[in-house]
Amino acid sequence: MSAVVSGSAVKSKKSSGDSLIFSGKSYDFVTYTKCQNWIGGSFTDAISGDVLAVLNPRHNKAMGDVVMSAAADVESAVAAAKAALPGWRAMPVKERSQILYRLKFLMERDIEELSWLVSHENGKVYSEAKADVLKGIECVEMGAALANMVTGGQIDVSRGINCEVTYEPEGICAGIVPFNFPVMVPLWMLPQALLGGNCFILKPSEQVPYGAMKLALLLQEAGLPDGVFNVINGGRPSVEAIVDHPDIKAIGFVGSTKVAKIVYARGAQLGKKMLCLGGAKNHLVVVPDAELALTSQTVVASAYGCAGQRCMAASVMLAVGKVQPIIDSMITEAKKIRLGEDMGPIVNKEAYERILRYINEAEKMGAKVLVDGRNAKVAGADGYWIGPTILDGMQPEWPAACEEIFGPVLSIVRVGSVDQAIGIENKSTYGNAASVFTTSGAVAKYCVERFEAGMCGVNIGVPVPREPFSFGGWNQSKFGVGDITGEDGFRFWTRPRKVTTKWALQADQTWMS
Ligand code: NAD
Repeated sequence: MSAVVSGSAVKSKKSSGDSLIFSGKSYDFVTYTKCQNWIGGSFTDAISGDVLAVLNPRHNKAMGDVVMSAAADVESAVAAAKAALPGWRAMPVKERSQILYRLKFLMERDIEELSWLVSHENGKVYSEAKADVLKGIECVEMGAALANMVTGGQIDVSRGINCEVTYEPEGICAGIVPFNFPVMVPLWMLPQALLGGNCFILKPSEQVPYGAMKLALLLQEAGLPDGVFNVINGGRPSVEAIVDHPDIKAIGFVGSTKVAKIVYARGAQLGKKMLCLGGAKNHLVVVPDAELALTSQTVVASAYGCAGQRCMAASVMLAVGKVQPIIDSMITEAKKIRLGEDMGPIVNKEAYERILRYINEAEKMGAKVLVDGRNAKVAGADGYWIGPTILDGMQPEWPAACEEIFGPVLSIVRVGSVDQAIGIENKSTYGNAASVFTTSGAVAKYCVERFEAGMCGVNIGVPVPREPFSFGGWNQSKFGVGDITGEDGFRFWTRPRKVTTKWALQADQTWMS
């Protein structure tokens, strides 16, 4: 369908001529071929023939179409996965891990194309898009390495009696992912699930479907047997069909808390293994002894990186006592950010309007807008732009200070003590991340031990744990047990089988001797 303005082409050996991905190597607007489902190693349309336009958020123009699937498409993907499962689970884990190592190499080879692709569909600036891909590569590396670490163990539990645990695949698994990290978030799930011997169905965000299309091609090139990895594109009907399908045994979800809760409840009611990560409202506590330059730069980078559209972004700064010099320096830093160069657009009109509503409402309630990102424009790019925004004098119960905005807005709540700051952080219904900025080890320890958050930082704005430390929040930021990455991820996608064996047939020994 698409006219290619510039770019390179990647073609699947088994796909039709329609199944090309084109990726320009700049912010210039380019169109992509239709994004189809990937089932059994080939691209295919949705059975209904329905498609949805995919917007390039920088230019606010359709860059391609994505097919919109329903139950019948999920049925085809499950059939492909079912056919592939016996061969895949029989393959030794060391061989499965080699395919992941090859994927890592292929992602490194195509990193520029992957990064521009993410930039085009999501709107991230190139450096942020590349960071998405790099973190994805790290997750692949971790998944591949797990083959040497966590696949089982055995000990002699008694005289002549041995107990062994092996981690068996769940079978057919699925992952449902959001728009904000098109490459990394699918790779939070895929490596561990594949390493564990499962077949996998990925449902990307319909807003950013091309990353998964490229991953499918790379996995095929890496030697993954057809049918082991399948992609179903679409919205709510495709998610419901995945959750309801009796042959899909374990489901990972990452997205908003509202949808995470619905998906978790629907799957859990059917007795499925569910792990659903939701939204966030992350607090940064800044105390007067914090180092000025490091703190102001780090807080600003956390709040405005990825235009605030990340679940680890700083959203509320709890300013303890006399920290005005740090706030003044933050204003300077925020004003240095070049829209379009350092920071991308908001993903779509709906999100843009939501973010503006929060700012306008806070201002009406009495907030002082120290840095105002409204009415921002970028020459030659008609996307939805909002610049860095700092709201001061916020009250903790005002919507912009306690609800997820998911945009480049930082609320400053002034407090008199560290305990007051911790009290506000603890009241949040979310629990993804929290950080403290201080040069005092005692203050840092005091805060970290009391935060109600799964991922904490000391002088770190975005405390994403690097692998092998696992990713996952607390409270309404996560529904289900365990974290999504690291060793926990492997445990989620597998089930332990325990085998107790008596080799020496000694009548005087029992399994408890
Ligand atoms: P979203 O909840 O709107 O969508 C996530 C996925 O669910 C998409 O694939 C979408 O197609 C599907 N979906 C949407 N509505 C649905 C419905 N009613 N029923 C079934 N499926 C539905 O989230 P988004 O806007 O794509 O992403 C932003 C959100 O994701 C933010 O809230 C952010 O905090 C969260 N997020 C969380 C983490 C984390 O690790 N906790 C990471 C990234 C993003």
